[in-house]
Amino acid sequence: MRPTWLEIDLAAVVHNFRLARQRVGAGVAVYPAIKADGYGLGAVAIARTLSQAGADGFCVALIEEAQALLAAGITQPIILLSGLTAGMEQLVIQLGLQPLLHSRDQALRLAASLTPGQQVVAYLKVDSGMGRLGISPERVPTLLRELSSYPGLQLAGLVSHFACADEPEHPENARQLVRMQQLLAALPPTTSGRPWQISMANSAAVLAHPASHYHWVRPGILLYGASPFFPQRSWRDEGLRPVVHWISHIIQLADLPAQHPFGYGHGTTTQRPSRLAQVAVGYGDGYRRCLGNRAQAVVRGERVPVVGRVCMDLITLDVTD
Ligand SMILES: *Cc1c(COP(=O)(O)O)cnc(C)c1O
Repeated sequence: MRPTWLEIDLAAVVHNFRLARQRVGAGVAVYPAIKADGYGLGAVAIARTLSQAGADGFCVALIEEAQALLAAGITQPIILLSGLTAGMEQLVIQLGLQPLLHSRDQALRLAASLTPGQQVVAYLKVDSGMGRLGISPERVPTLLRELSSYPGLQLAGLVSHFACADEPEHPENARQLVRMQQLLAALPPTTSGRPWQISMANSAAVLAHPASHYHWVRPGILLYGASPFFPQRSWRDEGLRPVVHWISHIIQLADLPAQHPFGYGHGTTTQRPSRLAQVAVGYGDGYRRCLGNRAQAVVRGERVPVVGRVCMDLITLDVTD
């Protein structure tokens, strides 16, 4: 009933996914990141769409998010980015999820939870420089050797994450890549005979750091039509298509004379005879209060400023021109 809604353009999501595919080239798998309900846009609808478009797997943060995808019939591998909380090992194994293991403890707990005949695919998370989650590179070879004695634990490879990928010139990007290359040269052979599967790239690295693509990539924000390099480079510069359109309706027009204060606190004053439009959207709908006098809206194809304070269920546009 409320005349404000989001339109999610799934065809644009597919366009952006194909752009990521093109950037990484054949032979590199693409695992879209659809954590936090697909960046707020609806994980199930996005997963179904990208599943049909050829996604090789999906990345989520939480077990609950993975369960929603499984319930929706998603059959591609599902990576659990935020590691393995103690006590969740059997659930993860039974659901067939592929956790990132952030520590030796997480890895050993997972291995110890396997009953005979059970198998689980997992990845070691390596801290190549971000200083957040993961195992430090110098410990990885020994840990891989130690874990190879658990037959059900199929360690498929290594995952790492960039701290500064959205600043393409930042020297830390090259340092993290070098640390990974050095680590890869020191790895023991796999037991499966398949090479270690390496993943480093988020959206920014998919677009700007080809040397980081390795075996599979994890683009998120670019799929949803946003440039990770904004404001230096826009979605347009990257060839992306916008996915989100927030629609609302003008519920009243008012003509005010010049020098007429308006809105709460009389915080804003007209500079000229003005036509103001009241629009049915506000901070109660998630339209951020700090956007008063800063944002723009599009009315019949023309950009117009948001003027005055953002109210709980209204914003005001200056549509004089
Ligand atoms: C969220 C996330 C991604 C995707 O990041 P974008 O910058 O949105 O592309 C990739 N990898 C990990 C580990 C993440 O947490």
